[in-house]
Amino acid sequence: MSDEVVKTDMIIVGAGPVGIFAVFEAGLLGLKCHLIDNLDRPGGQCTELYPEKPIYDIPGRPKVTGQELIDDLMLQCSPFDPQFHLNQQAKALKKLSSGHWQMTTSQGEVLEAPIVVVAAGAGSFVPKKPKYPELEVYEEKSVDYSVYKMSKYQDKELVLVGGGDSALDWVLSLQPLAKKITLVHRREGFRAAPDTEAQFKQLVADGKVDFIMGNIKALNGTDGQLENVGIETVDGDFIDVNCDYLLPFMGLKISLGPIAEWGLNLNKKHVEVDTTTFATDIPGIYAIGDVCTYPSKIKLILTGFYEAAVMCHAAFPYAFPDRKMATGYTTTNTAIQDRLGV
Ligand SMILES: Cc1cc2nc3c(=O)[nH]c(=O)nc-3n(C[C@H](O)[C@H](O)[C@H](O)COP(=O)(O)OP(=O)(O)OC[C@H]3O[C@@H](n4cnc5c(N)ncnc54)[C@H](O)[C@@H]3O)c2cc1C
Repeated sequence: MSDEVVKTDMIIVGAGPVGIFAVFEAGLLGLKCHLIDNLDRPGGQCTELYPEKPIYDIPGRPKVTGQELIDDLMLQCSPFDPQFHLNQQAKALKKLSSGHWQMTTSQGEVLEAPIVVVAAGAGSFVPKKPKYPELEVYEEKSVDYSVYKMSKYQDKELVLVGGGDSALDWVLSLQPLAKKITLVHRREGFRAAPDTEAQFKQLVADGKVDFIMGNIKALNGTDGQLENVGIETVDGDFIDVNCDYLLPFMGLKISLGPIAEWGLNLNKKHVEVDTTTFATDIPGIYAIGDVCTYPSKIKLILTGFYEAAVMCHAAFPYAFPDRKMATGYTTTNTAIQDRLGV
């Protein structure tokens, strides 16, 4: 915590792909940004939920993993020297008599700017935890709620839990490298994309993945290292399955958190915006990316990139009515190229 108030042009709440790209768009116009994120690194969902999975629908990038995309976005915006305030939540927002906004974070840092951009995605998200006896003993040692590094699971016996996209996607991704994978799900039906479900069922039919319909009832191991899990099947049988790592994918608890108290116009936990500017109903506050909503909204990274560009071009004249906005092509505009340092 510092006593100093950080003054900048734009405070961005959320350092996911869309918040990071907003830094670049703002930088082209000559605006400086500070970003706040409650995670310990930039990247939002891309690095938190699927760092090693390929994304196929980023324009001009036929195949790029979540982590690679974030690395490249960070590189692209680096000429504009964004400042990150990580491991802290954007908490209290207050309008000053100057018309600027003052943001206080959960770590007591205070930032001030004429523009606040809410790029908070799904809000602050935490995994839903199952209710297994002594679960906390094994957490951070042999129970993982997300996959940071696939190589950790090389030649290991894994038990995955869940019936949604995450659980089935990770079965498909980890199957080639794990020693053995067992998926535990309480019923036969899945909530996954049909193609993913079909591929999963094929692996089960080929004997490459075990599927058990049932519930985990016991975790057994030593000093936080799992040895096996006890499963009660839907038929009432009890089975012990060897397990080096247990990966429950039971969904995320999503909460807008403090953002819900800033007086913004909310619609089903999303922030309503004007699509010509991506302004919220409160002047000076904008919302882009997954967190914003409007009738034709598609929750995709590419949509968020577009929203970031439109937002910056609208926020600049709002916040700096006396300054000339230098717009143009990066290919030909020398003022923009000077800013980029190229
Ligand atoms: C498994 C999976 C696969 C996907 N595949 C694709 C795909 O192929 N193509 C595609 O286009 N999209 C895909 N998506 C969706 C894509 O990841 C999202 O659309 C994108 O991440 C949205 O970016 P964002 O920056 O708006 O939000 P996010 O990535 O959610 O980032 C928001 C950030 O805000 C932070 N935050 C929230 N509230 C606060 C607060 N009060 N204080 C501080 N920080 C806060 C969060 O910690 C988070 O880091 C996928 C999503 C998942 C889960």
